[in-house]
Amino acid sequence: MVGSVRGEDWLRQDVNSTPGVRQPEVNARMPPVLALNVGSSTVKFGVFEAARGHLAPVLRGRIESNGAGRRLVSQDAAGGVLSETPWVAGGDDATSDLLRWVEARLAGPVAAVGHRVVHGGPDFSQAVAASEPVLESLEALAPLAPLHQQQGLAGVRALRKACPDLPQVLTFDTAFHGGHEPVADRLGLPRLWEARGLRRYGFHGLSYESVAGQLAMLDPSMAEGRVVAAHLGSGASLCALRNGRSIDTTMGATPLDGLVMGTRCGSLDPGVVLYLQQAGGLDAAGLVDLLYRRSGLLGVSGLSGDMRVLLESDSPAAREAVDLFVYRAAREVAALAGSLEGLDGLVFTAGIGENSPRIRAETCARLAWLGVELDPAANRRGSGRLSPVGAPVTVRMIRTDEERVIARHTSRLLGLDR
Ligand code: ADP
Repeated sequence: MVGSVRGEDWLRQDVNSTPGVRQPEVNARMPPVLALNVGSSTVKFGVFEAARGHLAPVLRGRIESNGAGRRLVSQDAAGGVLSETPWVAGGDDATSDLLRWVEARLAGPVAAVGHRVVHGGPDFSQAVAASEPVLESLEALAPLAPLHQQQGLAGVRALRKACPDLPQVLTFDTAFHGGHEPVADRLGLPRLWEARGLRRYGFHGLSYESVAGQLAMLDPSMAEGRVVAAHLGSGASLCALRNGRSIDTTMGATPLDGLVMGTRCGSLDPGVVLYLQQAGGLDAAGLVDLLYRRSGLLGVSGLSGDMRVLLESDSPAAREAVDLFVYRAAREVAALAGSLEGLDGLVFTAGIGENSPRIRAETCARLAWLGVELDPAANRRGSGRLSPVGAPVTVRMIRTDEERVIARHTSRLLGLDR
């Protein structure tokens, strides 16, 4: 089902054997599924056992950079830290190295690997088994997601080479937005370009699927209403959810659109791009570098694209970058309330949304006119309902779990969850 999540789906995985996909033999206790999430600033992974319609986390982890280099942090199912080790793997083999590390830690093989792929383009609206024609058609979308598409697919290719018999499944950040009305996705360009696949797609769909599924369990009446979910991480976007379905979102044809992000500019007057090209002398590669890697919080602060660093800094430019992030986030929540024709709920998620009471408070303060209100103590605690009882708009923080969504689609497609 495209673009919709119901609470019961979140817990129960319907077995859906797909014709043409090799189905591994199903044992009483299947080896687990590895879900890989190559993000803009980190690699996250989760290992899940799938059985009788349920997914149970076994191991989680992330590879992140700090001043001293890269390190791999692993956690048990309850979130307790198991290990912290320097991580020196690099290049295309990083994914194979991570698989080997996971299998050594599990003392056994995984049944399949599921990947997050950022762009599914017009042809992929649900999870698909990795194959040569599929990879070629996804690689052709790289100009629409230059920081992410190639990086994610290189890992799939490396694993196909290292472990040709290992089933691999691709899940898409665009898929959850596939049910939009055409008017929400149409660009104001000649129709020729739409026929060639150029339209708004939206991203962070695996995260929004996770949030919508958890919300349906936590607060079914809120989930049935008009909700804006705010995925505020290194990449940032908003999604308008009506009855658990995405009806609009701030990212467009590419993950450059919408909010100001860690290093990406967000929405920009298209005339600015022409100016940068004509007066600034930037070619396509220079524009990619400027707009994806050197803009956003990093470009405006001149200091860092990392929100924690900016919040701790006393530099005026860091403050201005944070102000711009909040201003644009609040403005776009209001725009999506327009798409939803009202607002019943607001959910914060991802690195900044989950962990920064200050950004949540500053964003909500700008939305008071829409009925958005925070209970300061609940916001500081950051759990459960963050708005006072009886407030017109219910505000929540929900921890996104993209890895679980990737594992769910993977085990379902391969029939591993019976
Ligand atoms: P991605 O998955 O896109 O790599 P994340 O969702 O992990 O990114 O979010 C990373 C962002 O979250 C960074 O800007 C980081 O500074 C921010 N972040 C993490 N913890 C905090 C915190 N306690 N306060 C403010 N920002 C935080």
